[in-house]
This record gives sequence, C-alpha cells and structure tokens, in this order.
Amino acid sequence: MYSSSGALKSIPPRIGLEFKYEPEANEAMIDTAIRLLAGDCTVIADGTEREEYRGRVTTIVKPDNTVLVHDIDGYQPIAWLTRADSVSSDRRDGFALVAKKDSQTLRIAAHDQDGFAHYPSSQAGTPVGTCPECEGTLVRADGVHCIDCENRYPIPRDATIESANDCSCGLPRMRVERGLAFNVCLDRECESLDAAVREAFDREWECPECGGDLRILRRGGLIAGCENYPECETGFALPAGVVDGQCGCGLPTFDTHTGRRCLDATCDRLQVFEAKAHDFSRGMKPTR
Ligand SMILES: [Zn+2]
Ligand SMILES: [Zn+2]
Ligand SMILES: [Zn+2]
Ligand SMILES: [Zn+2]
Repeated sequence: MYSSSGALKSIPPRIGLEFKYEPEANEAMIDTAIRLLAGDCTVIADGTEREEYRGRVTTIVKPDNTVLVHDIDGYQPIAWLTRADSVSSDRRDGFALVAKKDSQTLRIAAHDQDGFAHYPSSQAGTPVGTCPECEGTLVRADGVHCIDCENRYPIPRDATIESANDCSCGLPRMRVERGLAFNVCLDRECESLDAAVREAFDREWECPECGGDLRILRRGGLIAGCENYPECETGFALPAGVVDGQCGCGLPTFDTHTGRRCLDATCDRLQVFEAKAHDFSRGMKPTR
C-alpha cells in the first residue's frame, strides 16, 4: 500500500477505522467534532511532489475532513489537505492518520503520542442575541443559529439584525429591504417577511409585457411575477432596496446599495419620474 516503506514502519499496513464509525464515539457529536492529534510525528504529503517532515506537531481534523498539521512556527500549517475525500485512523499502535483526496495523500504516524481528543464544535458567527428557548447565544453566520440548541433561522443575505428591536417571542427582529424596509422576526413562522411584502406590493405593479398584475411570489428569492403565467413569463427578482419612484417603463425604481435601478434589471429606460404620492420613506408602509 505504501510506496515508501522505510520511513513508515510504525504505520500498520491496513487502515481500518473510519472516524465516523468509531464504536465508542457518539455519532451526533462526531459530525460536528474537531479532532486533535498531538505528538512526535512523521508527516508525509504525497501529491505532485513528496514531502516528509518529522517533529512534535498537532494535527487538526475538521468535520469537513480538512486536515491541518501545525508545528511551532507561524500561522500556516506545514502540511494540509482541504476537504479530503476520506480520513481514516487506526490507533492500535500509537496512531496513524491517512487523508486522501484525488491523487493526494497525507499520512501521519506518531512515534510518541501526546494526545488524541475530539471536541464539540460549531460554526462561529457574530453574536446577535439570546436564544429564547435555552438562553444560549444566537450568532449570525450563514443564517442565525443558537450555539447551544438546534434552533436555526435562515435569513436573507442582505438582512440586518435589529438588536434593540426584539419580537414578543424573544427573538431579535431583522430589517430587510424589499421595496420598503420591513422589520420582521427572525422566525418566519412568527412574522412572515413574505406575507408583509405581499401585503405591500401584491398587484401593485403592472406587467410591462401584457398589462397583467404582478404578483409577489417566492421562487428561491422573492419575485414580482406576472399573473398570466405561463402565457406570460415576465418576472423580476425583488431588489434589496426601497422604492423611490417610477421608471420610464412604468415599473418602480429602487434605491439600492449599488445605486438606483428599475425593477427590471435589464431596463434601459431608467429615467426617474417624481416620487409617487405614497410615503416611501424608510420603514413606513405606503398610505392608500
Ligand atoms: Zn437555544
Ligand atoms: Zn417572533
Ligand atoms: Zn405579463
Ligand atoms: Zn424600467
């Protein structure tokens, strides 16, 4: 199995145990555990070139199978493999660890083992509040999640969290611009962004192709799509911004982070008329 037998006599010839199936391990924890292997090790990285190191190093194996071998110097690992296809270990004889990805292999053999452990880990993010269910800390990474329990709240990428504006359920609210600035609970079951946007803009605008009403729909993100679908396939993703006027094409214009634009991103008639009589100032619903 090994092309270079000389340096690796301490590695058992057969690598038996996949990390995920260690019998003594709690499986739920294993999926989110960071593993550490520390000791005097031989490290061999085989790929386009072959490199061999020996030293007292600490190897980190992340839940996505990224393997990082750190020595005493600097922030950079001396060897690594990101998101390996497989990471296997065998601890019968000290420990050995083999990570493989395509034609690359990273092998680690311990001559003298200082430690082997796994620790629970979670995605780190910016703290945004307190979990109403368990008092754990809510952090924002991809969405918002609680560090201590299973609570997760997917939120739009452009949402900002309003820390001083908690919902009655105890969760923070988020601010999301979809034609107006909406302030809704992180939990869509509690306060629905879709329902709020629908209430404000459903049938508010006319389809430029056929004159039908544009309905507010969710197709991945929120869109304004023609009511005459599938005969008319007109539909526009709702921009992250606030309506501030009307385009030459008749559709609304949006004030966004990247400037003013038509609801139709491909429109070339972006000449802004007087803002409508509606009060479109931030955070307020239009008067009707
Ligand atoms: Zn919690
Ligand atoms: Zn709520
Ligand atoms: Zn239409
Ligand atoms: Zn336009």
